Amino acid sequence: MAKVAVIGAGLAGSEAAYKIVNEGFSVDLYEMRPVKTTPAHRTEKFAELVCSNSLGGKEITTGAGLLKEEMKLLDSLIVKTAEEFNVPAGGALAVDREKFSQKITEILENHPNINVIREEVKKIPEGYDVVIIATGPLTSEDLSKEIQKLTGAEHLYFYDAIAPTVDAETVDFSKGFWGDRYSKGEGDYFNCVLTEEEYERFYEELLKGEQVPLKDFERAVFFEGCLPIEEIARRGKQTLLFGPMKPVGLVDPKTGKQPFAVVQLRKENKEGTLLSMVGFQTKLKYPEQKRIFRFIPALKDATFVRLGSIHRNTFIQSQKVLKPTLQMKDKPNILFAGQITGVEGYAASAATGILAGINAARMLKGEEPVVPPETTMLGGLVRYITEPKEELQPMNPNFALLPDLKGKKIKDKRKRKLLKAERALKDMKKFVNELNKEKVG
Ligand SMILES: Cc1cc2nc3c(=O)[nH]c(=O)nc-3n(C[C@H](O)[C@H](O)[C@H](O)COP(=O)(O)OP(=O)(O)OC[C@H]3O[C@@H](n4cnc5c(N)ncnc54)[C@H](O)[C@@H]3O)c2cc1C
Repeated sequence: MAKVAVIGAGLAGSEAAYKIVNEGFSVDLYEMRPVKTTPAHRTEKFAELVCSNSLGGKEITTGAGLLKEEMKLLDSLIVKTAEEFNVPAGGALAVDREKFSQKITEILENHPNINVIREEVKKIPEGYDVVIIATGPLTSEDLSKEIQKLTGAEHLYFYDAIAPTVDAETVDFSKGFWGDRYSKGEGDYFNCVLTEEEYERFYEELLKGEQVPLKDFERAVFFEGCLPIEEIARRGKQTLLFGPMKPVGLVDPKTGKQPFAVVQLRKENKEGTLLSMVGFQTKLKYPEQKRIFRFIPALKDATFVRLGSIHRNTFIQSQKVLKPTLQMKDKPNILFAGQITGVEGYAASAATGILAGINAARMLKGEEPVVPPETTMLGGLVRYITEPKEELQPMNPNFALLPDLKGKKIKDKRKRKLLKAERALKDMKKFVNELNKEKVG
């Protein structure tokens, strides 16, 4: 009988294994805990939530909320179990983490078609028809080396240095100008201009900003030349002006002069709906980032779709090595799922696990692997991580990933999100119906 190996019983691996056995196949599910643990996990349970106990917003007008609704249509084990063990958390879906992981562990361990193997995988196991790698942001060292061999060393990153990303619709474009340094390039940068007074105010606030304490295993990041913006600022008032805020090579068309300081925003997707703050990786606490970065005049009313951070994160450059079906381009029987693909957060990781599971089962049945429609949050995410770009930085579910509403210009942001969400759910239902029809047919 055809067999699948799923490596890693985290959020993604649990979903993938569950999907595959529900399609009638057998899975060997490899999990290294408790034989070997990661720096963040505390138990030997599957789908352990390593930090917050929240799976993000519930409303379909939030990126995570819409994704979870789509996941329910795809029969998600994670969302189903989270709802069973939810605890009150306002608009978010938070869970009793012990009961949540315990239940998922029981379901998978007791399943007759799942063989749990508690060992560290150091090499891609042989003798399987399909292998899914879902070993997460803290993939063990030996397996990371193996993945480097598989993908090319330059395509595996060990750290995120995430700069905040803003929704382009909320940027005040009158407070800067589009243009590349020394006019070299395609005009993909928007330069937010700061006068000397504005820079000083921003600088003072940056120095006062409260930081997230570093975990021991994260300290090494700073030795890799990846300094947070606030650390650069601490080295002197001028340092930023020679670093990420340097104005050299730029001329403001309004004044004909070089600005005093700039913050460059770079398009993060083809449509230019997402703009990231170049060189602004930071360890500032999230509310502090919003408060301080709004001192940049063009960002006064900005919506941050993702805030900055620096942390240990093993992830591949999916745009170079994966197809949107999550198969490797040159070894299609190997799929990746979870945070290691460059998606971010519990819900997004689990969702890619479902897709990898669906596709693994389809491959075993001799069917073509699928990708959900681009109008869905899951479809938008997998397209984002696999579409061509120089460098992939991890992405969470958000509405800027979804195409515009055809023929409609709706000013009200919430209304626009609601319409996009309704379209996404309609299209996901259709996608699921098609899959089910094929099963019956
Ligand atoms: C410190 C920290 C804090 C975080 N906080 C949050 C948060 O608050 N909210 C949020 O949404 N996301 C958070 N994340 C991200 C979070 O880890 C992911 O969203 C999610 O857990 C990823 O799911 P996954 O299935 O890809 O990986 P994981 O859930 O990490 O699962 C991977 C599994 O693979 C196993 N494994 C690794 N290597 C091997 C191997 N060689 N052989 C066998 N098994 C192996 C691991 O033990 C683990 O069980 C945090 C990450 C870190 C590191």
